[in-house]
Amino acid sequence: MSERRKARPATEVAHLGRDPHKHLGAINTPVYRASTMLFERVADLEAAERGEYPGISYGLHGLPTVTDLQSAVATLEGGYAALAVPSGLAAITLALLAVTRAGDHVLVTDSVYGPTRRFCDQQLTRFGVDVTYYDPLIAGGIEREIRPATKVVFVESPGSLSFEIQDVPAIAAAAHARGALVLIDNTWATPLGFAAFAHGADISLQASTKYLGGHSDVMNGIIVCSQATYPRLYKLWTDMGVSASSDDCFLALRGLRTLAVRLERHTRSALAIAEWLRQRAEVAEVIFPALPGARGHDLWKRDFTGACGLFGVILHPVAKARVDAMLDGLRLFKLGWSWGGFESLIIPAHPERIRTATRWEATGPYLRLHVGLEDTQDLIADLEDGLARLAS
Ligand SMILES: *Cc1c(COP(=O)(O)O)cnc(C)c1O
Repeated sequence: MSERRKARPATEVAHLGRDPHKHLGAINTPVYRASTMLFERVADLEAAERGEYPGISYGLHGLPTVTDLQSAVATLEGGYAALAVPSGLAAITLALLAVTRAGDHVLVTDSVYGPTRRFCDQQLTRFGVDVTYYDPLIAGGIEREIRPATKVVFVESPGSLSFEIQDVPAIAAAAHARGALVLIDNTWATPLGFAAFAHGADISLQASTKYLGGHSDVMNGIIVCSQATYPRLYKLWTDMGVSASSDDCFLALRGLRTLAVRLERHTRSALAIAEWLRQRAEVAEVIFPALPGARGHDLWKRDFTGACGLFGVILHPVAKARVDAMLDGLRLFKLGWSWGGFESLIIPAHPERIRTATRWEATGPYLRLHVGLEDTQDLIADLEDGLARLAS
């Protein structure tokens, strides 16, 4: 269960989800490795069978390293309670399964993370759930898309490939007026950058693999629930047997301790690099909602309290071989799909390949950058050399 909110986020990340005097004074909750839990008396075992035992009855549920991560993130985000799972994708798929049944309809933003779309199209539909994609910029117009059978509106703001900021309060108002739940993938902003529940979410999903872990060494996902949705999620999480491991939750908790300072640095460095890129002749547009003047900036400013190091750049038309030469020769920006770690990354991205409800209009090749924690000037120098290869 979530703890009472009492401090600013940078303080909270240092203190939430740990209780040293329950663990011999150790500052961090240790890694509890356990499967079987022993009961002292038959009466305890019988209480566990009735669901009335106050202790932990099996290693799959309730080990302290796991529950401390859950309560910390639930509190940070302003939710009721959270569940930890083995990946961000598992958080998304479990949440969608928990709140739908055959005959239901789900609305999903066209800017959604690719594997979320794959799950919706290839798995949810198998269980008789109808899926429709909507324009991420639809705002209150979502009302026209809502059918009597619509049970969920799935939001990802900003989309982690194309960075549209969605009008979450307008979408949530329309969804709630028609009895639909709002699920949000809040991985880009993290609970520090976007208060999902204050803006109308019923369930907030976090790939803690990304910034929360922060060191590219853990796969982890967290489902934060409202009080009304928690029982359904808890039931499915228990029935499916998909708790995260203590080892992974330990790493996510360790990442949480420095989340505020890391995000501050990622954001500052990304803004400096985005500003620099915007001035370059090779660049058509920088898509970074935290950047003044960029698309989505006004809504970002209205609703968000922070950003991160992930953004997109549209280049002017240029041969693919030149883009490949630019990327292949980079010394610091490495080629990799994931993000949120200390290291800088870059990929050619193709939003046009997966969209079905809207068109991705770009004049030239599109790159997604993750600005890591390296020195900003070194990163700019790397990109400057890369742009020289692009033009040569
Ligand atoms: C990476 C990512 C996920 C999935 O996280 P995994 O831990 O890699 O499964 C979900 N949503 C977004 C926006 C992501 O970037």
